[in-house]
Amino acid sequence: METNENSNACDSSENAANEAFLVQSFYRFFHLEEERLIEVKRALETKAEQLGVGGLLIIANEGINGTIAGTNNSSSLFINFLLDNSDSSIAALSHSDKLGAWNVKEARSEDFPFRRFKIKRREEIVTSGDETIDARSSSEHLSPEEWDRMISENPDLTLLDTRNWYETEIGKFRGAIDPKLNNFQEFTDFVLKSSPPKDKPVLMYCTGGIRCEKASLQMKSLGYEKVYQLKGGILKYFEKVGRGLYEGDCLVFDKRVAVDPNLKPTGEYVFCPHCGQPGKEKITCDNCQTEAKICHRCSEKPFKSTCSKNCANQLQFKAERAKENRAKENSARTKDSLMA
Ligand SMILES: [Zn+2]
Ligand SMILES: [Zn+2]
Repeated sequence: METNENSNACDSSENAANEAFLVQSFYRFFHLEEERLIEVKRALETKAEQLGVGGLLIIANEGINGTIAGTNNSSSLFINFLLDNSDSSIAALSHSDKLGAWNVKEARSEDFPFRRFKIKRREEIVTSGDETIDARSSSEHLSPEEWDRMISENPDLTLLDTRNWYETEIGKFRGAIDPKLNNFQEFTDFVLKSSPPKDKPVLMYCTGGIRCEKASLQMKSLGYEKVYQLKGGILKYFEKVGRGLYEGDCLVFDKRVAVDPNLKPTGEYVFCPHCGQPGKEKITCDNCQTEAKICHRCSEKPFKSTCSKNCANQLQFKAERAKENRAKENSARTKDSLMA
């Protein structure tokens, strides 16, 4: 298994722009009729193939959310394709409503973070499970600079992370409340249970800003009025401010796994082969003796100190067979002693 162990060691002096791949994350809420959705999906797939970009996009009737990667040129051309009006099905998007603009964030990666280009059709581009929420109605967005100012000028506010526990575990804003969500659907329940004070400002953030679009609307529907969100999320904050008030790294959902405040892949984490969550425990596979990394939770479970699901299964199979053999030997021995 690749661990990227030393991938950052020798290039720290290099200009970031020299790195091979441009990674761009983006989302936008707008209403897409079913028929148009199919046209748009097809247009994007064709463009991605022409340009040779890789990526993962979620498309729904409420908009598009995704990350792509390619060479400087191809990645930029793909984003331009979204932003300009050269393609009729895409151009129709910008006329469909004036409420949202594309929210685009950039980073660089030495390794190509996607295996291919894929667009997934979903009910929502962020899963809240609440279809009554229309994320196009705008909420208060703070730029990274405004965010820092607001926090330093208001010691008495609620700073709330809207991401999942395996994301907050590797980094979050100093002093932020970590709701330890398993998934975003649990967010509203958390707010109801913990009931942060309604008279204080609530500042929320996530990776790229999209979850907060919905979280802030949920907060408002629960009676919170002073709700703010970090525009462009942690990734935009890293781009504009760097580390600032943030502690640790930020999980991203492609092969980079986690980026540091310079937006460089940390090279420290992998997605655990057993559970898919980020991990950095170094192990030597108990089955095939390969060096690998897994998450610390799995490292404590039986058969999981292995480099892959396959090795875990093999190890378990061997253990069960050994147990059966021991049982057979024991019963044979008992028989022998009875015969004697
Ligand atoms: Zn794991
Ligand atoms: Zn193995």
